Amino acid sequence: MTTFSSLALLLDFDGTLVPTARTPDAVAVSDDLRALIAAAAERLEGRLAIVSGRSLEQLDALWGRALWPLTVAASHGLELRHDGRRRAPPEAGIFARLAREAESRFGARNGVVIEVKSFGLGLHYRLAPRLGDSVGRWARDLADEHGLVIQEGDMVFELRLPGADKGDAVRAIMELAPFAGSTPAYVGDDFTDIAAITAARALGGRGFAVGGRIASHADAALADPAAVHGRIRALVDGGTQAFIT
Ligand SMILES: [Mg+2]
Repeated sequence: MTTFSSLALLLDFDGTLVPTARTPDAVAVSDDLRALIAAAAERLEGRLAIVSGRSLEQLDALWGRALWPLTVAASHGLELRHDGRRRAPPEAGIFARLAREAESRFGARNGVVIEVKSFGLGLHYRLAPRLGDSVGRWARDLADEHGLVIQEGDMVFELRLPGADKGDAVRAIMELAPFAGSTPAYVGDDFTDIAAITAARALGGRGFAVGGRIASHADAALADPAAVHGRIRALVDGGTQAFIT
């Protein structure tokens, strides 16, 4: 039986804490969300982490200083910040170059939004669904050519460096104090979160899916980010069952 005192909460960001926006830049973090996450982290005595495919730089820009005290695994686990210390591989200049190639090939005028990250490149076709197949073909060719990992998500193909996924991120976080020895509950919405849910369950924890995309991989599903906020609020207010299924 999982007890409240031993729970660790690991949260995806896009699609989990905030609704997926039409473009990655259109996402905003409200003051209410900042306060809720800070309160949950305090309630859990620091055992709360954000696990995102975004870079740490992107997350800092969206969250501001509210993110600084939290444990954050960014870039699918390639970057980890804990106790104010960041560890990451050398920046990969290849993605700036690939972004220019993508820009000249698809360009904003066609509706493909190109997201350059420290360790990856997102090709979002939400505004141009008919281009999904050709964007995917191009991304797969580039992945083959450069030894990159390709990850398909919600109306996005992402190219990234190999060597880490969100499952690795969960395992790395759970080795750190004060997470070590606690039971993880992981909440995520997209295909990249499956590895994290699998890792959390292997550690005796639970996986929560937001929406239906990966619900079959999880112990329980939450409808949308508002439902996630509701669970976190229940946790803050003392509901020891909030993340126990
Ligand atoms: Mg997500």
